[in-house]
Amino acid sequence: MYFECIDCASSTIANPTILRCPDCNSPLIINYDASQSNYELPKTITLGEGNTSIIELTRFSQAIGITKVYAKLENTNPTGSFKDRGSSVMIGAISSAGIKDIVEDSSGNAGASVAAYAARANISTHIFVPESAPKAKIDQITVYGATVHKVPGHRDNATKKAHDFVSQTGFLYASHNINPYFLEGTKSFAFELVDQLKNNLPDHIVIPVGNGSLLIATYLTLKHLKNLGSITRVPKLHAIQSERFMPIVAEVNDTQWQFDQNATTVAGGIASSNPPRFKQILTSINEFNGSAASVTEESILGYRSLLAESEGIYMEPTSSAAFAGLHALADKNIIGPSDTVLIPVTGNGLKDSN
Ligand SMILES: [Zn+2]
Repeated sequence: MYFECIDCASSTIANPTILRCPDCNSPLIINYDASQSNYELPKTITLGEGNTSIIELTRFSQAIGITKVYAKLENTNPTGSFKDRGSSVMIGAISSAGIKDIVEDSSGNAGASVAAYAARANISTHIFVPESAPKAKIDQITVYGATVHKVPGHRDNATKKAHDFVSQTGFLYASHNINPYFLEGTKSFAFELVDQLKNNLPDHIVIPVGNGSLLIATYLTLKHLKNLGSITRVPKLHAIQSERFMPIVAEVNDTQWQFDQNATTVAGGIASSNPPRFKQILTSINEFNGSAASVTEESILGYRSLLAESEGIYMEPTSSAAFAGLHALADKNIIGPSDTVLIPVTGNGLKDSN
């Protein structure tokens, strides 16, 4: 197992203290040497994450006029979001390396997840969150024993403050957005999906995208399985963003978008104006002929209510953004009435009642 740069393809030893390519500073992914039959898999810290159910949304499908829509219930993970998949592998690697103090910045879900897995591994954690993060998420991070640092202003300020703190203390920056182990752990979402659906993969997977870890991990996994011949066709991957934070949508659709420093969104989990793995997000969308669409605040909240009322699923607004996005893609005829669609319910509604 080794780290590989996404840009210059140079390889380096896999180590949780290395976050970017030593040669060109681009993000890294984990790769395996196929010539070694017993290559080393990352060790994990587990709370029983993964193995989430896929259910058909019959009433919702009728309401939106698309024959088959499925949800994968990532909200049922141990801390209430899909981030537990990444935390399990990232904290496992950090624990194996004997590191005892880590720093993370998060809009809430990743912070809570990292704090939980770090608690189980006896690692001390500092989480930098936007002051505007939902109270339930901040309370959750606090109860796991992490030190919470609330940062005024938008999401990106929390990242900057976390960097400053890392420089002052020398603690490890365990960023879920850039750490290759976190991305590797998140791949279990798509491995599971293929295992559950076999050759009945959906035509489309619609994913809410901020920094893009779930989208990129899904792309890498499907590409890997296609190359191996384990699957014969791949779903199109679509990225949904809030119209207030839509750098990917602007790039993919070649439209103008100016970031407003004072912008806020009910979908706090995708409030990123400058994702560190930007190029990988574009590749993940384009290579399988996917698309990107933005949604309004009103539609995000409207679809959260619709999913709760029609299917009994209480999700956070970041997750319902993808369901609102399905509507937007159907309006543009990118997704047709007889297509099959899968949407991950990325986070539990109890974490963000908004
Ligand atoms: Zn490089």
